[in-house]
Amino acid sequence: MEFRKEVEVAKILVADKIIESRIEIRFDPLTLQTSRIINKSLNMNFGEFDEEIASSKSWCPFCSEKVEAMAARDPEIMKAKLWRRGETILFANLMPYAKYSLIARLTDEHYLKLSEFRAQHFFDAFKLAQDYISDLPEGKFYITIGMNYLKSAGSSIMHPHLQIVISENSTDYVARLEWSALEYKEQKGKDFWTDLVNFEKEGDRYVGRTEKTEWLAAFAPKGFYHFIGIPEEWEFVKMSEKQLYGIATGLIKILRFYEKKGMNSFNFILFCADRIGDHFRTNLNIVARSPFGKYYWCDVFFPKMFQDESITFFTPEEYAKELKEVWNEI
Ligand SMILES: [Zn+2]
Repeated sequence: MEFRKEVEVAKILVADKIIESRIEIRFDPLTLQTSRIINKSLNMNFGEFDEEIASSKSWCPFCSEKVEAMAARDPEIMKAKLWRRGETILFANLMPYAKYSLIARLTDEHYLKLSEFRAQHFFDAFKLAQDYISDLPEGKFYITIGMNYLKSAGSSIMHPHLQIVISENSTDYVARLEWSALEYKEQKGKDFWTDLVNFEKEGDRYVGRTEKTEWLAAFAPKGFYHFIGIPEEWEFVKMSEKQLYGIATGLIKILRFYEKKGMNSFNFILFCADRIGDHFRTNLNIVARSPFGKYYWCDVFFPKMFQDESITFFTPEEYAKELKEVWNEI
């Protein structure tokens, strides 16, 4: 497994002094996609957003008093019903991204601080997603479960919710992941993620373990504080409750860490291995996004939009160490 990086040094003249700035270009060990770690600090002063919480709550279709009337229905698998478990409510996405496109509303509360999310919220949503996926017709589907939280992460609705997207066609990135993983398995005889855990376990990007799940910082981060969760059980629909709980618990720990770092917004995705083959293992990726507030800033700009080049300001080995130190306490 190769962890390749290139370094460029930029020289700038500031007040008669030459300052050197380091730019690290890192190649993802599976896909070879590059990310840049640049020397920049994140201005954390984005202002309050109490008004936004109140105004978005006034029309929110996912709040408990409106969801029954406003949620779109899935006519086939869910027989036009809403599926509920704990605080989670599963229903069709009014604006589908694929043949099967669902929303799992996670919480009764309209807004939560990152430290207020509970493992049970994610666990219940994962269980409902499993119920739905197990009722799908035969055929090959690409299944992803993702979350955008707050506007700086791209979410149009503040109320915490997951999206489950089940498509007959892979996204561009999933296609890249899949053929890279297939090539890896053919060459090495094992799936990439098993090898990654074995390789990283003793290293300085390893963070810790929750039940049946290993957590580490991504070598070539796709955003701020990019962590990867690698479950033992490889197919999402067949995952045991212990496995789902292990994933949910790790997520909660990372969200608490983000809050400690002053972040409040995030994206995550579960790439599900279901119906793909044993070269692919379900894996979770999570990044923090620029903090949301009255004056928030979008951290996706032209390199990502047109060149698919991720830019981040923090070094994985450093933040993995920080999280590792508090992993069992948070
Ligand atoms: Zn709401």
